[in-house]
Amino acid sequence: MDNLISLIAEIKARIDKGKFEGLSKDEALILSELPVSLYTAIFDLSTQINSKTRKKVDKCGSFYSDVSPCAEDCAFCPFSHDHYTSLNLEQQTSEILIENMLKYADRIAALGINHFKIVSTGLRADDAHIEKVCEGIVAVKLKHPNLQICVSMGLLSESNLLKLREAGADFYNNNLETSEKHFNKIISSHTLQQKIDVIRLAKRMGYSICSGGIFGVGENLKERIDLFFLIKELKVESSPFNIFVRYDNIPLSSMVGEKQISTLEIFLSLAFFRLVYPQCRIVLGGGRDFYLSEMEQEFALLVGATALQSSNALNAKGTIDRIIKDDKLFNNVLNENE
Ligand code: SF4
Repeated sequence: MDNLISLIAEIKARIDKGKFEGLSKDEALILSELPVSLYTAIFDLSTQINSKTRKKVDKCGSFYSDVSPCAEDCAFCPFSHDHYTSLNLEQQTSEILIENMLKYADRIAALGINHFKIVSTGLRADDAHIEKVCEGIVAVKLKHPNLQICVSMGLLSESNLLKLREAGADFYNNNLETSEKHFNKIISSHTLQQKIDVIRLAKRMGYSICSGGIFGVGENLKERIDLFFLIKELKVESSPFNIFVRYDNIPLSSMVGEKQISTLEIFLSLAFFRLVYPQCRIVLGGGRDFYLSEMEQEFALLVGATALQSSNALNAKGTIDRIIKDDKLFNNVLNENE
């Protein structure tokens, strides 16, 4: 116990002196054994760093350019062919795609959402779809030059990645999902290495990288920490922290039980993520409303997250209330740090 307390004090001294570049792997593994009585010390450290990383209201909105059943077997994903559900998302056709992209962009820009993510389901989008999305990106950028455009279209070829980049995409998203040790337990139809390869390729083309994980899929804290170090090693700029939402038809739901990840574990994981990778934009993403009350989401923004996925406001059933609540969360947190 004394060793843990002196390690925490030593880390705090590095933070106070402005010399903290993130935990070493050894430090993170030692701290992962922390008794619950010392969790508040971890939250103190991560809150101190997070107040420097988080500077403003920062929100993402997702637009689904294609919602088709996917041949891959990701055990957590509602779009996998084994247990497909459209989640009531609007199906796009190529005739209305560009017009709808523009409508979404107008709406999110008006709501103060600064990241516009365009997502297609499947292992990789096909050439015809990429062409249409490129046309849409050009139109959106013309009207909203300051909107950051993030594209999530799977394990794309070099030529399609380049087309999207040249059209104006700023970020490329491909989520690593989970640690190397846990990956094969939830996905067998493609590999973590394929994801790493596409991230490295996109990085070489000048994209900023958006890549995160899904938590509560049977992994433990040490495996989460492994993932955070991989995200740091790949110099990911933005990282969605998604939490697995149980749907009755997804087999993983019964495998992981009622709530695989507790609220406290979510906070602790976010705090470790912040301590491992101080500079990363961490986006509290899918599942936040399922697991966390508004007050708990505010706490998540204090201890680790710096941005919110605000998509709920954007689908047909979404309302402006969600955005107003999200802005209030940011304001509360910013005021607390003043
Ligand atoms: S590849 Fe993407 S869309 Fe397909 S099952 Fe996996 S996460 Fe879902």
